[in-house]
Amino acid sequence: MRMDISSLLDAPPYPAERYGRLADRLALLLGTTNDVLLIQAEAVLALEAVATSIAREGIRALNIVTSPYGTWFGDWLTRGAADVDNVCATPAKPITLEAVRGALDKADYDVLSIVHAESATGILNPLPEIAALAREKGVLTIVDAVASIGGHPVDVGRLGIDIAVVGPQKALAGPAGVSAISVSQRAWKILDHDRAPTNSMLSLLDQKKLWLDCGRAALPGTPAPLEFFALEAALDRIEAEGLPAVHRRHAQATLATRAALEALATSAWVDVPDNSVLVTTAILPDGIDRDTFLIAANSTPGADITAGVGPGAERLFRLNHTGRRASEEAVRSNIAAVSAALRQVGLPSDDEAGQLAIASVYGA
Ligand SMILES: *Cc1c(COP(=O)(O)O)cnc(C)c1O
Repeated sequence: MRMDISSLLDAPPYPAERYGRLADRLALLLGTTNDVLLIQAEAVLALEAVATSIAREGIRALNIVTSPYGTWFGDWLTRGAADVDNVCATPAKPITLEAVRGALDKADYDVLSIVHAESATGILNPLPEIAALAREKGVLTIVDAVASIGGHPVDVGRLGIDIAVVGPQKALAGPAGVSAISVSQRAWKILDHDRAPTNSMLSLLDQKKLWLDCGRAALPGTPAPLEFFALEAALDRIEAEGLPAVHRRHAQATLATRAALEALATSAWVDVPDNSVLVTTAILPDGIDRDTFLIAANSTPGADITAGVGPGAERLFRLNHTGRRASEEAVRSNIAAVSAALRQVGLPSDDEAGQLAIASVYGA
C-alpha cells in the first residue's frame, strides 16, 4: 500500500469541544447514558486501567477466563491486592452458564469480569445471561467488549453493564491508539476509594476529576489529534452504514465463511451460536504442520489467515472477517487461500464448491 504519510504531519489540534461529542457517540453505540471516558491508548491499557483502579484489599472478584485477555485481567486485579477467583472455560470454548452460576453461588463477589467476544479463538460468551445472573446477585459487571463492539450488540444500558471497555480498531474499523470505557454511577462508587491510583494513566478517577467534572473540554495531557480525527471518521462511517447493518455484515461474512469451510470439508471449531462473527476458527487437519499451512495460505492475495491464540487454540487457524474485512471479497480471498493451502499440503480441496457456497450466502 502506498500513501503519502507526510499528509499526517502538522495535523491541527483536535477541537476540544468535540471530545465530549465523541464520547456521546460511543455511548449511543453502547445504548447507555453512563459516563464514557476516552483513553489515549490502545484498549489493553484501558483494561489495565479498569483493573488497577478497582483493585484493592477487600474486593472480591469473579474473573472469567476464556483467553489470555481474561488471564491478564485477573493478574492485574491480583496485583492490586484484590481477592480473585478465576473461572476458566474449557480451553478455547465459551464459559457455560452453569459454571458462572455455580461460582456466584459459592461466594459474595463485588465484581464479575468477562470478555464478550474473543478474536483469539472465535468464541462468544453468553453475555446477556451472565449479566442477568450478576445483576440478580448485585455483582458489578465489567465487560471487555473491545472485539465485540460492531460485531455483536453490546447493550450496556439494557443489560445493566457497569463497566464496558471498547476499542475502535476491530469491528468498528477505526484507529488502534484510542479506546473508551463506560462507567455506571454504581461503578464510580467502587472506583472512588483512598487507595485508587492518582496522577496515573491508569487512574479512572483522574479522568473523572480532570475531564468529566470539568465540563469535558480538552482531555488532560496532550491529546493525540490523529487518533481522535480517525476515531471521528470511523464513527462517521459506522453511523452512515448503521450499527445494525454493520452487525449484519459481520454475520453474513461468518455464515458465508462457515458454509464455504464445510464445502471444503474443513471443520469450524465452534458451533453456532457459540461463535463470534469476528473471526471463524477452523480445525487444522490431522498431521498437517501449522506453520507450513499458514505460510501456504497467506500466499493468496487479500487473505488473512492466522494461528489461533492461547490455550486450546494450538491446532486452530483463524479466518479474519472483522471490520472492513466483513465483506464478500475478503471472505472469498480467505476461502481461496484455505483451499490452496489444503491442496499444497496434499489434501483434496474443491475450490469451486467453496466459492459457490459463498455465492449462495451473498446471492450470486
Ligand atoms: C483486541 C482485543 C483487546 C485489545 O487489544 P489491543 O492490543 O488493544 O488491540 C482486548 N480484548 C479483546 C477481547 C480483544 O480482542
